[in-house]
Amino acid sequence: MTQVYDLIIVGAGPAGISAAYTAKQLSLNYLVIEKNQIAHTIYQYPLGKELFSTANELEFEPNSLHYKNIKPTREELLDYYNSFVYQEQNLSIKTQETVTNIRSGKPLVVETNCGFYEAYNVLVAVGTMGIFNKLNVKGEKEERVSYLFLSTTAYKKKSVVVIGGGNSAAETSLDLCKAQAKVTMILRRPSLDRVGQGAGIKPWVREPLETAWKEGKLEIIFNAEVKEILPSSIILEVKDQINEVYCDHIFALTGTRPDVSLLEKAGVIIETDGKPKYDKETFETNIANLFVTGHLTRELHMKNAILLPPQIVRYIAKTLVK
Ligand SMILES: Cc1cc2nc3c(=O)[nH]c(=O)nc-3n(C[C@H](O)[C@H](O)[C@H](O)COP(=O)(O)OP(=O)(O)OC[C@H]3O[C@@H](n4cnc5c(N)ncnc54)[C@H](O)[C@@H]3O)c2cc1C
Repeated sequence: MTQVYDLIIVGAGPAGISAAYTAKQLSLNYLVIEKNQIAHTIYQYPLGKELFSTANELEFEPNSLHYKNIKPTREELLDYYNSFVYQEQNLSIKTQETVTNIRSGKPLVVETNCGFYEAYNVLVAVGTMGIFNKLNVKGEKEERVSYLFLSTTAYKKKSVVVIGGGNSAAETSLDLCKAQAKVTMILRRPSLDRVGQGAGIKPWVREPLETAWKEGKLEIIFNAEVKEILPSSIILEVKDQINEVYCDHIFALTGTRPDVSLLEKAGVIIETDGKPKYDKETFETNIANLFVTGHLTRELHMKNAILLPPQIVRYIAKTLVK
């Protein structure tokens, strides 16, 4: 007979790990399915990146994350998550397996690229890095444009264009500038100020960026619309004028969107902001026993991605009907 899990968790980011830890503590029969390795979003941060969060906002137990300087780095956090999951807790996680479909019913059926599973409850914690926003212009090719910034190593003395007005674009521009790249930052908006709910730059990043710009260490072009990418340049329209900027490489750090196709196919209502509809207290969607958590909901930071799943899993345990 096929085993039916009490809970299947989709995604092993901070939210999925936090949920799994609670499921283990409550002796639920649970499984986490992760399409990459655990904490894949953090793995994609720039090498050596210091987090803006403090350790207590990133750990599963008080004072368990050890770090050297003021804030933990990407590497320290990855070490911590890996040892917590595999050595300390031995959580039940299948990695390198992608959930491709969730079928509603009792039990729910979770299909993956390797097979299928049955579960009385499914908690989806797939984050918001599922789809990278592209420029959608002529000449946009993998070898010319990157959507993620990992390291400055390849760009010393190179001309690099960074597109985007958020924190990632600002930090990347600064890092590349420090690594002696010739940086041109390109923004659609008329200044570094945030417009409405759009991307913003954190004050402690904006200040050094403005200083570098005023000192002529990097260039910033405002009011710019990307028109085309050529083998050694990028074509912009700036206030009705065509502007060609020569560059060796382009980083388009124009944000990501959650891939909600999994939820949509399952029948979950997606709101106009691209995020699923769910009960604000239980985090259950309109599909019975299908829950959402983490960055995929309207919780922006890791603090709540870690704090809220235990509440959801406790609710699932309390209402579990087999
Ligand atoms: C550069 C950068 C720096 C950041 N710094 C901070 C910071 O300092 N502090 C802070 O609070 N936040 C920070 N954030 C945001 C933070 O990373 C997120 O809030 C956090 O990762 C959300 O956790 P999550 O578990 O909800 O989702 P994620 O960490 O995104 O995890 C989702 C997981 O689901 C997996 N997955 C996706 N689809 C499937 C599928 N179909 N099947 C199986 N698995 C799937 C993914 O591979 C991934 O591992 C930063 C983000 C970036 C990009």
